[in-house]
Amino acid sequence: MPIATVNPANGETLKTYEAMGEEEIERRLQLAEATFRTYRTTTFDERARLLHKAADLLEEDQQDIARVMTTEMGKPIRQARAEAAKCAKAMRWYADHAEELLADEEPAEADVKDSGAARVRVRYRPLGPVLAVMPWNFPLWQVVRFAAPALMAGNVGLLKHASNVPQTALYLEDLFHRAGFTEGCFQTLLIGSAAVDDILRDERVRAATLTGSEPAGRAVASTAGDMVKKTVLELGGSDPFVVMPSADIDRAAKVAVTARVQNTGQSCIAAKRFIVHTDVYDAFAERFAEGMRALKVGDPLSDETEVGPLSSEQGLRDLEELVDDAVRGGAEVLCGGERPDGPGWYFRPTILAGITREMRIHREEAFGPVATLYRAADLDEAVLIANDSPFGLSSNVWTRDEAEVDRFVRDLEAGGVYVNGMTASHPAFPFGGVKRSGYGRELSGHGIREFCNITTVWHG
Ligand code: NDP
Repeated sequence: MPIATVNPANGETLKTYEAMGEEEIERRLQLAEATFRTYRTTTFDERARLLHKAADLLEEDQQDIARVMTTEMGKPIRQARAEAAKCAKAMRWYADHAEELLADEEPAEADVKDSGAARVRVRYRPLGPVLAVMPWNFPLWQVVRFAAPALMAGNVGLLKHASNVPQTALYLEDLFHRAGFTEGCFQTLLIGSAAVDDILRDERVRAATLTGSEPAGRAVASTAGDMVKKTVLELGGSDPFVVMPSADIDRAAKVAVTARVQNTGQSCIAAKRFIVHTDVYDAFAERFAEGMRALKVGDPLSDETEVGPLSSEQGLRDLEELVDDAVRGGAEVLCGGERPDGPGWYFRPTILAGITREMRIHREEAFGPVATLYRAADLDEAVLIANDSPFGLSSNVWTRDEAEVDRFVRDLEAGGVYVNGMTASHPAFPFGGVKRSGYGRELSGHGIREFCNITTVWHG
């Protein structure tokens, strides 16, 4: 894939970049290693001051960087602005909380005594340069969610961003430098995915984090495994959205629309499979379809737009194939089901009902505004359908019955259970999945400790 900005609203190539060569990569690896040696000794206060500055600058740049993101990957401009604001908030959250999250821990006194020690402490020390392989769907957020805790922990970052968002990737490097982080603290590597393997094998790179597709995750994790390096993987999702009879059906249907089409449906934590109790199935389906039909699809740079183009022609083709496969297998199209006429990589908001296990869309991630609808006879069947997926990122359940909530929390195979609401990440809550959605956690104290050397300090 060339490293280029191609506007998804019209297919126009706006800017292309030469990939960095071996010499430049070597220079940057050396710089990362050298910088780490000193940066690791800085205080939390110093790091926090720089990260606060980065948050302030990002807020000043909000309009401009939102436009860049929208032009590179097609997200509706209002959502791009919200993404920039969310990044500033996460930076401040880690700037304000990292010291407390990484404070020394003292084991129980009885255990310390039992070991024969006078004193024992557990200290969180940084690991070194961490490689972040990141996707285009939230081109700022995915990176900041890694970079803010990594920098606060005393690590340095090397970003390999998706090839279709090079301007956002370069902006991030520039942002951290303008904030006062020395050059080697955060560097963007403009490289294709084929160059990742060698970099990951380099001794100077101590760990890696990847957000993206399963094949990309598998490639990075197997190399990291071969080199015995820590990884965090945040891969795809096909989150269930379960609606039970006691739920507020109007609200559930309204939120279902947003949960499915946020970011034009290209979100790992978007609800994708809507599993509805048979008693409320018809009422929910009708309102859900009404909401999907009413969405404003169009120019992502317009403030009115709710659904923009998909990020790439390939993404559009993949989605179309999933829909065609389902329709051939007997799925019913409640709305949408096709691309509109005209330029750009658009797809109409779609609901497919009558999904069977044989259809690809039942098992694969639909990365676009396409929902699948399932009818469940009871809670047991709802849980069975929800768990019948290779993925386990998050889940949404709608019910006012506390006993049902307990069952879902006990039984759903996912890294999150959102009750009467849609999944959304927050800096203070852990984020990540089980099964083929990956492993490890981002955000919160769990996220910042992933790339730490958890050190036992024993005093005799
Ligand atoms: P990819 O997983 O291919 O891209 C994500 C990142 O991984 C990019 O930086 C990419 O680089 C890099 N990458 C890809 N292959 C490798 C590899 N073998 N070794 C190292 N790095 C690699 O996502 P796509 O853009 O191709 O999207 C395909 C599908 O992936 C989507 O339809 C969706 O289902 C899923 N996806 C899920 C995301 C999520 O948030 N869960 C995000 C993005 C995609 P480069 O761009 O240079 O190829």
